[in-house]
Amino acid sequence: LDREEPNYFGAGPAQLPTNVLQQAAMDLINYNDVGLGIGEISHRSKDATEVINSSKEDLRKLLAVPETHEVFYMQGGGTTGFSSLATNLMTAYVGATGTTAPGGYLVTGSWSQKAEEEAARLRLSTEIIFDSRKFDANGKYGNIPEESQWSDKIKGKKYSYVYLCENETVHGVEFPSLPKCLQDRDDIEIVADLSSDILSRKVDISKYGVIMAGAQKNIGLAGLTLYIIKKSILENISKAETNDALLAKLNVPVTPIAFDYPIVVKNNSAYNTIPIFTLRIMDLVFQNLLKHGGVEHQQKENERKANILYTALDACPDFYNLPVDPKCRSKMNVVFTLKKEGLDELFLKEAAALKLTGLKGHRSVGGFRASIYNAVSVQSVEKLAKFATEFAKEHSN
Ligand code: PLP
Repeated sequence: LDREEPNYFGAGPAQLPTNVLQQAAMDLINYNDVGLGIGEISHRSKDATEVINSSKEDLRKLLAVPETHEVFYMQGGGTTGFSSLATNLMTAYVGATGTTAPGGYLVTGSWSQKAEEEAARLRLSTEIIFDSRKFDANGKYGNIPEESQWSDKIKGKKYSYVYLCENETVHGVEFPSLPKCLQDRDDIEIVADLSSDILSRKVDISKYGVIMAGAQKNIGLAGLTLYIIKKSILENISKAETNDALLAKLNVPVTPIAFDYPIVVKNNSAYNTIPIFTLRIMDLVFQNLLKHGGVEHQQKENERKANILYTALDACPDFYNLPVDPKCRSKMNVVFTLKKEGLDELFLKEAAALKLTGLKGHRSVGGFRASIYNAVSVQSVEKLAKFATEFAKEHSN
């Protein structure tokens, strides 16, 4: 089983390392010589349990997950996370304080916007701490305001959690680091969506209440979502759940059982049938990363790739428009448009002729987006940068 190395820049599902897929294909047919594929055996069997445990261990090593935090998996994607985070975290806050407070949202692109809308749709109290479009001259997503522009807004206020999306996949906006004014608050649980930048750079897990990441970009196939959660939050949810009358009085919605974090954790992520083949792929991705220098090495490579591509595009300022403020440009999703009209189709066609694919921008934004996740090689990015330079040269004037 082999394939030509792709140069695929799709935003997700995204390219995975070929060696991972080769091993996964074998495991799908005959796992560990048991005569059955990994997806055919019971999710509670010894082999499946080993996949769950080893993937958790590998992830703990990769991200230096401290003992204060638990790792678990759930079906569904990022969107399921928007709902489950809101209900679980509000429940945890009731467990900790006996009352409710709004979930605060930093809105920097369409995914954090959707997360806030979902919590509000579930009739939970939310507060948009800032919407970055209000700080943009064109009213679009493309920047992250300085902390000094919004930190006063949270002073003295209580939140059941504060939510942010570290990398906005559609708009190509990435937090360079976790806002300090949130880190400084012991009473705020930071909840972060890392769906499109998990394992792309080092993060300090101890700073987070919960991390959520859909698998289909840097770590695997769609269908499974990774969570890293502070154990005290799990305890607070369980505590609140012993007082149903209080939760009802405070209008906190009951979390559907398969998305109730303490229940999922108590059952080692197998309360219901976990897609174990999908998890096996995730663990193969983790093992592959561990073998190749871990997150530290991957981060350097990702910085190199982003630098190659942004430098090439920046070198043609009359031809390419890069809408994102350089301070928060994503190292995973490079968004750009052509200044000249009528050339978009040609750009995609000529790129495809060089086997550079998946470059079309999100339907809501248009233009182009090169997603340069972990599995996209430096060579692929160099090819794309070279093509972009030549295309600009050929079509300027
Ligand atoms: N969060 C981010 C950052 C995403 O990029 C996406 C999807 O691309 C989602 C959430 C939603 O994920 P899903 O489609 O798995 O629900």
